[in-house]
Amino acid sequence: MYCPKCRTQYIENIKECSDCQVPLVEELPEETPLEKIKWVALIPLAGEVYAEMVEEILQKMDIPNFTKSDWATSAFNISSANLVGAKVTIFVPEENRDEAAQLIEELLGNK
Ligand SMILES: [Zn+2]
Repeated sequence: MYCPKCRTQYIENIKECSDCQVPLVEELPEETPLEKIKWVALIPLAGEVYAEMVEEILQKMDIPNFTKSDWATSAFNISSANLVGAKVTIFVPEENRDEAAQLIEELLGNK
């Protein structure tokens, strides 16, 4: 048995990790490699100053992210339909998209 959080191995009969207080699992799930994350593009930003501000906020929120200042779709197979003319595009994992988009809206004062 393994703790899914700290990955410590336990003997049979133990049901919970004493450190993390989480139920043990039979097998450790494989760690999600970075390239398996489904990245989605946020609204393009009209300059690197904004991009840096956004990056800083995302990092504070523990949201993984990367930016592309030169548009290329092939690597991550993401539609570029709404990104024409973008200067800097920030990518976050799909599961963090709503959260990140909201932060950006607040930052840019759109709403
Ligand atoms: Zn643990």
